This record gives sequence, C-alpha cells and structure tokens, in this order.
Amino acid sequence: MEKTNKLYEGKAKIVHETPDHDLLVVEYKDSATAFNGAKKGTIHNKGIYNNRMSAVFFEYLEGRGLKTHYVKTLNDREMLVKRLRILPIEVVVRNVAAGSLAKRLGLDEGTPLRSTVLELYYKNDALGDPLINEYHIKAVGLAEPDQVREVERQALAVNEYLGEFLSPRGIDLIDFKLEFGLHHGQVLLGDEISPDTCRFWDRTTKEKLDKDRFRRDLGGVEEAYQEVLKRITTATGGR
Ligand code: UDP
Repeated sequence: MEKTNKLYEGKAKIVHETPDHDLLVVEYKDSATAFNGAKKGTIHNKGIYNNRMSAVFFEYLEGRGLKTHYVKTLNDREMLVKRLRILPIEVVVRNVAAGSLAKRLGLDEGTPLRSTVLELYYKNDALGDPLINEYHIKAVGLAEPDQVREVERQALAVNEYLGEFLSPRGIDLIDFKLEFGLHHGQVLLGDEISPDTCRFWDRTTKEKLDKDRFRRDLGGVEEAYQEVLKRITTATGGR
C-alpha cells in the first residue's frame, strides 16, 4: 500500500495516510523515550521487533474474537491498519504491582494483586497523562459512557487472552497499556502491543523482558525484545 501524507509522528511510530481514506500505514521506529519524553534513546532494531510482535498479538486477539485496527503486515517496519479516531484515554491493566502503582500504593514491585486492576489515564502529554476515572471522562466529555464500558470490557478480555497466550511461553504479564479508537462508530483496539507498552517478566527468573530495561538502564534491551519475539513466535507444543 502506497504512503501519501505523513499524518503524525510520535515518539515510537510514524503514521502515514494512504490513497484509501480508511487505511493508514504505521511505521515503527527504533527511537525510545521514557518518563514522558525526559529520557531519549535508540534501541537497535526495536521498530522491527515491535512491528512483528504487535502483529503476532493483534492476529492472536482477532482469532479470539476481539476487533483490532490491524489489517496486515507490509514489511519489516510497517503494518496496514484501519484509521481510528483515537479516544484520549489510556487504559492500563495490572496483575502484579510494578511501576507507578507500586509507588502510589507503597507496594514492593512484584507483589501479586489479589484481583485485576484497571486504570484510566487522560492521554495528554502536556499534563503528563494524569490518572482519571469514569466521572472525569463524563464530566469533561472525553468519551461516551457506553464507549468507556466497551473499552473496559475489551481491555479485560485482552488481559485474559494475552495471559493465556504468554503463560505457556514462560512469560508473566505484569501490566500493559492499551489505546482504543472509533472506526465507523465501532470501538477497536489500536496502537501497539509490545515490550514498549507491556511489562513482561520471565516466569522463572523474574528477569524483565521489556522497556524497563531501557527506563532503568539495566542493559540487554535489544536482547530482551528479541527474546520475547522468539518466545511468541515459537510453537509451545500445547504445553
Ligand atoms: N505504559 C505505556 N505508556 C505510558 C505509560 C505506561 O505504555 O505512557 C505502560 C508501561 O509500559 C507499563 C504499564 O503501562 O506496562 C503501566 O505503567 P505505569 O503506570 O506503571 O507507569 P511507568 O512505571 O511506566 O511510568
């Protein structure tokens, strides 16, 4: 699919328009940022790994009956997706305390949560993506209540299905962030699903296999992305 205008360039991806108004090309870059852009760097070949991993996850979730923006992979760094009007809400789902939740609730990182936690953040870089709830969304008109319900339903389904997918591959799904958008009125899962947006820990060693290696200068960043890609593209033999 031919690219026409560049629609948007973000921290990790470039979105291009195509001759078909309904379809966009997402190009995955190697650049990485953390702490709302305060830390910048490059993870060699990250764009290739994240394009591939997102495709694997989107195809799997489609197979489980979820609707996503993913259409097909075009090449190493590009996928074709449906155009969404992105809802300005970031949805975080958590199974184990880590990152900002561990800090906010004074929990040791790695503390299992007794039940799944779903959080909503206002997608607004200038404000540093503040934590919000359904009342804020309604009061400010960020989305319709039935859209929020649908987003939450899908996010919890993603958690269940991804957990089932990753478990036999020796990966614990600690937490992740999703973005959703509207396509002809329908709520679809958008953005990406990758070690940039998820926390993946090795089940046995608890080693971090995600962007925390970059955020916290742990080293072995590219190797961790490569390892996740290898595990999710290798058959599990029904384990
Ligand atoms: N996350 C993300 N983008 C953000 C903030 C968080 O993809 O702008 C992901 C992050 O990788 C983790 C989950 O959402 O998997 C929860 O992140 P948390 O709130 O703990 O924030 P962080 O510790 O990353 O600042």
